[in-house]
Amino acid sequence: MKPFFKTKNIFDLLVILVFLLSVVVGCVSKNKSRNLIPADIIIEHAQVLTMDSNHEIFKNTSVVIKQGRIIDIEASDSIAIKYSATRIIDGKDKLVMPGLVNTHTHVPMNLFRGYSDDQPLHDWLYKYIFPLEKKYVTAHNVRMGAQLAMIEMLKSGTTVFNDMYYYEDEVAKAAKEIGMRGIVCEGLISFPVPNAKDYKEGMAYIEKLVKKWKGDSLITVGVSVHSPYTCSSELIKDAWALADKYKIPFNIHLAETKWEVDSIEKTFKCTPVQYLNKLGALSENVIAAHCVHITDEDIAILAEKKVGVAHNPECNMKICSGVAPVPAMLKKGIKVGLGTDGAASNNNLDMFQAMYTAALLHKLSSNDPTVMNAQQVVEMATINGAKVLGMDKLIGSLEKGKAADLIILDLKRPEVYPLYDNIYSSIVYSMNSTAVNTVIINGKVVMDNRKVLNIDEDKLLNDIQLLADSIAKTNNMKK
Ligand SMILES: [Zn+2]
Repeated sequence: MKPFFKTKNIFDLLVILVFLLSVVVGCVSKNKSRNLIPADIIIEHAQVLTMDSNHEIFKNTSVVIKQGRIIDIEASDSIAIKYSATRIIDGKDKLVMPGLVNTHTHVPMNLFRGYSDDQPLHDWLYKYIFPLEKKYVTAHNVRMGAQLAMIEMLKSGTTVFNDMYYYEDEVAKAAKEIGMRGIVCEGLISFPVPNAKDYKEGMAYIEKLVKKWKGDSLITVGVSVHSPYTCSSELIKDAWALADKYKIPFNIHLAETKWEVDSIEKTFKCTPVQYLNKLGALSENVIAAHCVHITDEDIAILAEKKVGVAHNPECNMKICSGVAPVPAMLKKGIKVGLGTDGAASNNNLDMFQAMYTAALLHKLSSNDPTVMNAQQVVEMATINGAKVLGMDKLIGSLEKGKAADLIILDLKRPEVYPLYDNIYSSIVYSMNSTAVNTVIINGKVVMDNRKVLNIDEDKLLNDIQLLADSIAKTNNMKK
């Protein structure tokens, strides 16, 4: 019998079959990729700490980012057949969580870090800081100090900061260039400052900034009143009215020291919180920094007026201001966020340190290790901080539709291992900020594998040191 195919024919047939198969497979995969939704970034196979209202924590999960927003969070297998992206980040052995929210700082003061330490607040301010600011606070120096602070903040996982200082337009410009989210609050005080001869001039500057930065994706403008003891009643009322007019944040240092409480009691016969309440300057957009020396009545007022509190445990400890009654405030439903205060008084802007210190401080001061758990501390550093800033609809948790402000942390580190599935404990008690590997703000990678992308870090550090050398020389500081 004649074979149906000759050897050569069988070979030809096989070649044709392989060709047809490759065409079919090509078409299928082409169709498949055609059906994938294009995105900008996908972080895949990660552990995701959402900080949403259900406290969801997911494993082997992907976060999809497009045009600045989180558009999906789902199991990595499902995401892989649904989306494509310009950049895929491998999240294996990594934790993705919301960027940290620093509710109180003075970023340009990074210039004065280490200039004067180990002083009580009043001496520190009047003998060292105010005279120094008079000489060295210029637009140029403010910008350099702010840039230094932003590099430090990004490297320690902070994606948004609430700032009180002068020349805040320079802070805003630096934040915009680096890609950081910031609330810039120009400082008002009852004496001349480097960029305003009186507070009315300061208020005019704020109005200009409000108009200039209106609708910006990263910058929010606010009002900053230094404190009840450095600002007149008239200033406080006018500044609050300005904040109310534009519906912008109103910041004030409040009830920080016993000295402040005594001084306000002496003049106005009430506590600093009650004094502000009498002036009509307490409302939902008020961010009160410190609130260390407050009474039960003060706590009730802060709760009723929905005031946000910025708790700065390290600064309070270093200056020995006292311990803010944070557990009591949380029990009354007050929004409490965490802050570092400025680097001249802390002396760093590391929110991991702030979390660790806050957790330990309240255990020790109340003699109760259960008084505030690790989860509550992470909430203060993320979603509750966002509430204090009035930004919780936009940031503070990882949810579909929210801005993609997030950090990626390395989990496979000796100080973190072993993992007992209590990620809050790892974050607050074991990790330090060097675990922060990548930072994304408004959908853009701004720090990649610990390199801050939009600034020359080496050059800036050199320039800052030159300035510090000249400050030290002029002011006869001992080296
Ligand atoms: Zn402060």
